Amino acid sequence: MTEGHEPLATIFRRLIANYGPITIQHFMGESNARYYSQRDPLGASGDFITAPEISQMFGELIGLWLTDMWVNAGRTTPVHYVELGPGRGTLARDALRAAKRYGLEPTVHFVESSTALKDLQLTTVPQAHWHADLSTVPPYGPVLIVGNEFLDALPIRQLVRTAQGWRERMVACEEDRFVAIAGDKPMEAAVPETLREAPEGTLIEVSPAAAAVVYEIAGRLVDQGGAALLIDYGHDHPRTGSTLQALREHRKVEPFAMPGEADLTAHVDFAALAAVVQARGATWLGTTTQGQFLRQLGIESRADNLTQFAPEHRDAIHAAMERLIGEGQMGALFKVMGIAAPNWPGGAGF
Ligand code: SAH
Repeated sequence: MTEGHEPLATIFRRLIANYGPITIQHFMGESNARYYSQRDPLGASGDFITAPEISQMFGELIGLWLTDMWVNAGRTTPVHYVELGPGRGTLARDALRAAKRYGLEPTVHFVESSTALKDLQLTTVPQAHWHADLSTVPPYGPVLIVGNEFLDALPIRQLVRTAQGWRERMVACEEDRFVAIAGDKPMEAAVPETLREAPEGTLIEVSPAAAAVVYEIAGRLVDQGGAALLIDYGHDHPRTGSTLQALREHRKVEPFAMPGEADLTAHVDFAALAAVVQARGATWLGTTTQGQFLRQLGIESRADNLTQFAPEHRDAIHAAMERLIGEGQMGALFKVMGIAAPNWPGGAGF
């Protein structure tokens, strides 16, 4: 058996036996790299479903938001559509179709690490150019950047206040099972000052990987012009507690039970990311709920419009809309963060 096909759990067990517990960041990063590289996790037969797979209205409205920004900023070309983690390419296909009606035909760039998903994206959006990260996207011309359920897959660190002080949460192995334990190194320096004296047992999460991506997005917007939308489940105020979860076949499973076989995610800390945007000199347009954002962009009239063309699908169209904007569904838990170049206009919906 080659190294690449050995179960990740076996590799982790050996690593931990030889070198001691590993960070959650390490566990999550390796798990998701393995998880996404080998499968299409989306849809009814997969492990989870995302907004663009629920209805074409989602991608269309995002395409119209980007077009509106580009038109108001003066229709500069060349212009690039850049999507982070495009999944099946559905969002891009719907957004680009809507944009084209208003004269926006950008070059298309996908940042994607999974070869399995890249193959699917190739059939949905054949004109795309693929990148391993943002660094190779063209450095000239405005960038219109989108990421839906991308940041939540990036690895997090967890820090916990113990009787001895702040420690990093690590993954150890007990009789073949992976369990979380507190590490032995002091981690005070990684904890925001306002939380240092929090009670014993307090747990916080930080995502250096998400912060690095958002820093780079903001830098691109400052240097080249453009706008970005980042959509994910998360919170717009700082919070404590673990949000690490694993999904397999639409069910939650124990986060450490099957590394590489389940989708590991954590809620996105949009408050921390807004601070990164501003520190890099881009404009934070705001963070709002997905329900509020899509309503303001006119999802209800779009649903009526689609119903006129296909009255037989009336119920399905309205059920899909409800899933996207309903308070108890994706409408409140999912947030949309808008970012723009400093000299670009403000965006609709914020
Ligand atoms: N945006 C899509 C898919 C969400 S799933 C949708 O809404 O349906 C997460 C996506 O991010 C997948 O395409 C996955 O392969 C990609 N991804 C996860 N981690 C990544 C990383 N570190 N670098 C690049 N792409 C990554």
